[in-house]
Amino acid sequence: MPGPGFAFMDDAERDNVLEVLAHWHEHRLDFDNPGSTSMVRRFEDAAAARFGVPHCVPVNSGTSALLVALAGLGVGPGDEVIVPGYMFVASIGAVICGGATPVLAEIDESLTLDPADVRERITPRTRAIMPVHMLGAPSDMTALRAIADEHGLALLEDTAQATGGTYRGEPLGTLGAAGAFSLNPFKVVTGLDGGFLLTRDPRLFQRAHSFHDQGWFPHRQETGEGEPVFGLNLRLSDLNAAVALAQLGKLDAVLERTRAVKRDLLARIPERPGMRRRLLHDPEGECGTLAVFVFDSAESAAAVAKRVRCKPLIDSPKHYYGGLPALAAFGRGEPGPFPFRASGTLGDGRDYAKGALPRTDDVLARSVALSTGVSDSYLGAGNGVGPFSTPEDVERVAAEFNAAAAEVLG
Ligand SMILES: *Cc1c(COP(=O)(O)O)cnc(C)c1O
Repeated sequence: MPGPGFAFMDDAERDNVLEVLAHWHEHRLDFDNPGSTSMVRRFEDAAAARFGVPHCVPVNSGTSALLVALAGLGVGPGDEVIVPGYMFVASIGAVICGGATPVLAEIDESLTLDPADVRERITPRTRAIMPVHMLGAPSDMTALRAIADEHGLALLEDTAQATGGTYRGEPLGTLGAAGAFSLNPFKVVTGLDGGFLLTRDPRLFQRAHSFHDQGWFPHRQETGEGEPVFGLNLRLSDLNAAVALAQLGKLDAVLERTRAVKRDLLARIPERPGMRRRLLHDPEGECGTLAVFVFDSAESAAAVAKRVRCKPLIDSPKHYYGGLPALAAFGRGEPGPFPFRASGTLGDGRDYAKGALPRTDDVLARSVALSTGVSDSYLGAGNGVGPFSTPEDVERVAAEFNAAAAEVLG
């Protein structure tokens, strides 16, 4: 069971899918017309309403949501985007595919962007900051918003792992210029695949929408407010939207369970000398999908992780900058791994290899995660509990973790 939404699949998803199959011909013809009853349109309206923003662009993945956001913002060649050294490969991949330069910044014990370090990385070429709300918990949005406002930068929230999370009452993904969400199977809720972009900015919406659908203006109009954009086809399919629409309706129920099971688990795992919980910028607003413990030493973290069949967070091959060989190649200016980029436009000799962010390396090597909803061995959290774990399951996982921590920390 990868993400918690899966455990909630029932007739609601099935009925929506059957409705698509019953009407597919009509839906395909009026794919994106205003007033259409297509699942994509219904999902778009439901997501905008759920998160309280005027505009949603449903797309075929979270990666596409990031790419259409960059297209919408007009960020590209010559521009720099500040990204944390702990993210998902897609956060950086979208920036590189879009022609811009990713600038790595340190994370702190919240496992999200360290605002003080972000400030240090701003140059005249910086156009955007991408907070990535890792493992379901918000970045320090007050500090990041202040920096973005002060320097006239766009905030693009990578909300792929934090759908439904909030920061001081505001939905994550709606605090900056745009928020990118994923509906892949490892996320809070799922469309089996898919994603969406939220924004309040009509111009960004038009550009992002046109980019995701061959330059059509919003809702398949030939002309409209804004400017023509050369685009791709990154559309969400009606079948995925059917699943996603049902899942979106269950988002609050999913979060209620993940948060409850996480509370139960943490109530049984006390902090101890040498081990504390991850710092949370808004404990009320996090999704409760993972529980992270930060140790004083990398050796203790590795030893405990091994005993509970997890991995320290630094061992992820896709979430740690130092584990991404293509990123290091980008810094060295090797053109091979980068379709669509001229060799002179690659990393400017930047050092993206392991060691470039010493504080990020340190905290990730000292952190271990248990699942409380999202179970993902690539992330390091292949063990833990799920939304419908019994109190006995929770007790067993907590007891095993406590025994490991006691043995290692003494
Ligand atoms: C999953 C994820 C994405 C990409 O989403 P896909 O739907 O798999 O393309 C982007 N960023 C982060 C932080 C993610 O976890």
